[in-house]
Amino acid sequence: MSSKSEEKLPAHVVIFPFPAQGHMNSMLNLAHLFCLTDFHVTFIVSEFTHRLLLKNTSVPATFAAYPGFQFRIIPDGLPDDHPRFGDRIPDIVPAVSNTMVPLFKKMMADKHLLASPGHRRPATCFVADGFFSFAADFAEEIGLPLVYFRTPSAAYLWAYFHVDDLIQAQQIPIKEKSMDELVKGIPGMEGFLRGRDLPGFFRTDDVNDHLLQSLAAATRQVVRAQAVIFNTFEDLEGPILSIMLEKLPRIYNIGPIHEHQKSRLKEKKSEASIVAGNFWEEDRSCIDWLNDQPPRSVIYVSFGSLTVVTREQLIEFWHGLVNSSQRFLWVMRPDSITGGDQIPPELMEGTKEKGYLVKWAPQEEVLNHPSIGAFLTHSGWNSTLESVVAGVPMICWPYFGDQTINSRFVSEIWKIGLDIKDTCDRLIVEKAIREVMEVRKDEFLERANGMAKMAKKAVERGGSSYGSLDALIEYIKSLIIS
Ligand code: UDP
Repeated sequence: MSSKSEEKLPAHVVIFPFPAQGHMNSMLNLAHLFCLTDFHVTFIVSEFTHRLLLKNTSVPATFAAYPGFQFRIIPDGLPDDHPRFGDRIPDIVPAVSNTMVPLFKKMMADKHLLASPGHRRPATCFVADGFFSFAADFAEEIGLPLVYFRTPSAAYLWAYFHVDDLIQAQQIPIKEKSMDELVKGIPGMEGFLRGRDLPGFFRTDDVNDHLLQSLAAATRQVVRAQAVIFNTFEDLEGPILSIMLEKLPRIYNIGPIHEHQKSRLKEKKSEASIVAGNFWEEDRSCIDWLNDQPPRSVIYVSFGSLTVVTREQLIEFWHGLVNSSQRFLWVMRPDSITGGDQIPPELMEGTKEKGYLVKWAPQEEVLNHPSIGAFLTHSGWNSTLESVVAGVPMICWPYFGDQTINSRFVSEIWKIGLDIKDTCDRLIVEKAIREVMEVRKDEFLERANGMAKMAKKAVERGGSSYGSLDALIEYIKSLIIS
């Protein structure tokens, strides 16, 4: 730094999310919170996701109002016409490692490339997606402090810390007969976590399975960061977070981050819009439809941005929904069904009467709509937190990753819903819907409302996540070496 005025320049944080919907949403929220603090932010996106953000969201316009913010756009190496969704999503992982990451490293090798004399410092901190195991070596190599952002639940990371112990104790591979037995060896979860609740990628016959081992390797890197951010809050995952301090002494729990963004915007009386990084165009006609439905009468069905269901599974859900006689709003992404798209006519009839289908919904707004009574969800972490904040009970049908563990917490620990994992039968679906929407409705709603109050309190002044974000900001400021 040459002059006194340059010494006063704010921290400059480089944020690099994995380019998938759930990761992008929470890391865009983080970028916005940093901008509200007057930090400078460089946000790394792939060309493809940047195009989607431009097409379907006001995210680029919102950030254009912050002069300290810049996108850096990097190709992901896949052909333009590659769908990058549905059953082609696994192609993104090698594309990011083989193309995006090397280009990012090349860009970062010249620290001044992201700077601007007199206006922006070279990067002072690197916030990497917790899935990026390259980040620890790289940050060390270029001498940049590293903060990992783990976008899934804290419980998921905690389970990953114990992969080697579970392999040694022969609890992985999970045997069919022990799916319902309690797992031993993950402190804090011993009384309720069964084989079938372990992270989805633990379900393998081969302990050397590439995905299992590469995610375990990413977990081992997390301890090398100077700090770790979680999108969670103390009243939700407190017991696990306290145990985790053994391995990660500097953690910042600043969630639910989408609600935190709202709370800080309100406090600052900012007119900026909330950032939500939709990859698809929202169909807002469902809000008009919801406006015509009675209070708490609709079950919202969405399996997130990555889940793929077979035609048979879809039909079972559909029968379950129609037979439950409840109203439903269903998000059916075009790329989310395999095995034919012929829908039986009686189900189309049943939908006309009671249901509404869209390709992509404004989910947060939907969950906060007074006519929503429950959420049939794949238990993605963002969806779970959005439901928690909205006080909406859940029926969980997890697909993979952290979803299998999140759904166990929903049903057994927080008791704000039911977990129907590993079943896809119309009778079970119908029974679960009746249970949550009719038989035990008041009980679930009362607990979900209590949890929603705690979530909102956490991100308001005086709340645990609010204090944690302030501490994170101070920490990042302290990393500036003038
Ligand atoms: N989402 C949305 N509209 C939809 C379906 C999903 O806006 O119709 C958003 C949802 O609000 C959440 C994200 O997509 O923020 C999905 O993230 P999550 O972690 O729940 O699941 P993933 O898609 O990563 O499996």
